[in-house]
Amino acid sequence: MAQGREAGGEGQGDGMRTATCTYHCSECGSHFSSLAAFDSHRQGEFGEGKFGDGRFCEEPEDVLDSTGNLRLTPLSVEGECRLARPPKVGVTVWTDAKSLERARTKWAAA
Ligand SMILES: [Zn+2]
Ligand SMILES: [Zn+2]
Repeated sequence: MAQGREAGGEGQGDGMRTATCTYHCSECGSHFSSLAAFDSHRQGEFGEGKFGDGRFCEEPEDVLDSTGNLRLTPLSVEGECRLARPPKVGVTVWTDAKSLERARTKWAAA
């Protein structure tokens, strides 16, 4: 009787990969799919700055790697974050651009 909890937007086929935020930054509210991706948007060093924590967030879309290429790329702009309070849907989940490239190559080969 108490069934029928319909999550809106679900059941549109299995073809869609839903990205889920696994590393949530409570500081800037960005969503990341890997620790490496999360880490790369955190700039500065501990032990620096006025309060001994010189770390701060950079906009994920502005993070560059050592060669000046964009370090992060959106895994999905329709991602899901269950780590935020309250949980959010339709969020951008960022991932390492290089690891996504590898994944794409793998899918293409399959
Ligand atoms: Zn952040
Ligand atoms: Zn998140």
